[in-house]
Amino acid sequence: MWYFASPLIVYGEDALSHLATLEGQRAALITDVHLVALGLADKVADFLRQGGLEVVCYDRVEPEPSLELVKEGAEFLLTHSPDWIVALGGGSVIDAAKAMWILYARPDLDPEAINPIEHFNLRAKARFVAIPTTSGTGSEVTWAIVLTNRAERRKLGLGSREAIADIAIVDPAVVMDLPPRLTADTGLDALTHAIEGFTSTYHNDFTDGLCLKAAKLVFEYLPRAYRFGKDDPEARARMHYAATLAGLGFGNAMAALAHGIGHALGAIFHLPHGRAVALALPYTIAYCAQGEPGSTRYAELAYHLRLPAESEWVAAKALIEAVTDLMRQVEQPLTLAQAGIAQRDLEREMSVLIDHAMNDTQTIMSPRVPDESELQALLWQMYSGDISL
Ligand SMILES: [Zn+2]
Repeated sequence: MWYFASPLIVYGEDALSHLATLEGQRAALITDVHLVALGLADKVADFLRQGGLEVVCYDRVEPEPSLELVKEGAEFLLTHSPDWIVALGGGSVIDAAKAMWILYARPDLDPEAINPIEHFNLRAKARFVAIPTTSGTGSEVTWAIVLTNRAERRKLGLGSREAIADIAIVDPAVVMDLPPRLTADTGLDALTHAIEGFTSTYHNDFTDGLCLKAAKLVFEYLPRAYRFGKDDPEARARMHYAATLAGLGFGNAMAALAHGIGHALGAIFHLPHGRAVALALPYTIAYCAQGEPGSTRYAELAYHLRLPAESEWVAAKALIEAVTDLMRQVEQPLTLAQAGIAQRDLEREMSVLIDHAMNDTQTIMSPRVPDESELQALLWQMYSGDISL
């Protein structure tokens, strides 16, 4: 038995105005200071008030949210007793808000102990709305929660199937002014979700179509969204939908090795999540294509993307080329060196990176799971740009 989970998805023009239809007493808006400064938090609060809700705002979420931050946010919720939690932001804000929601229901719990087995009865206290302000993480439709243990410099892949938003509001208007760098980083995260969701060992018939469509949309619209920004509203909107589709895809399958490596790189070198996973993606495709014959699905993926697909080998090569070509178009680093990581730093952190990546929940979903020495070789290839196949 398995499940396909999804919030109600409200998308398209004026989707934000759906907030005015929420019924209840009090909404806690969880966001960050940038979105407050941009006036977006006020806009959301106005819609909530139109529906008769009182609004309280917690705006202290930072990138790579820590365990301490989540505890502080939960205290805020316990003080104000909201019956709606509205997360407005990128993946960091939405993930942090999901964890706060769990601790609001279960103040006794250590955030590191959030797990998919236990029942938290979250909706007895509050329901949850997610409004993504980047086009990439898919957190608005997944039940995954990534937090950072600062002391151990480790990303924690947590989650609970209950901790999925009741409503995801996917309104392209909120991403029109996304800066190009953030557009590229988060857009490539969406592509990595789509490709890993399709190729992970947890892929299934319910998610394949979502992953394929999302991958097609990213290849077509990310370069336009990156180059033209708000002057190409169609590209902005299609990228915003692609990110949510990819979220539904990988959220109901799994990501894989590029995410395992990307989480480790993010925690140690503070590379933005999307940049880190996208950098790992072509190398992990090459690595997996050299595994057990029949273990990969690159030919099927490439076929749907209209790339050469006569064999797994040919398809893997074509995919690597397509991904790296897209990364060049949006001016992303293709090697760890280009991403600003010095050789001596990689050497110094190698054993920690390997430990983190080997223990990441996504790594074991890869069609080929590396041992420590293979992972070390892979990281050095990522450093030097050797995508050998
Ligand atoms: Zn991701």
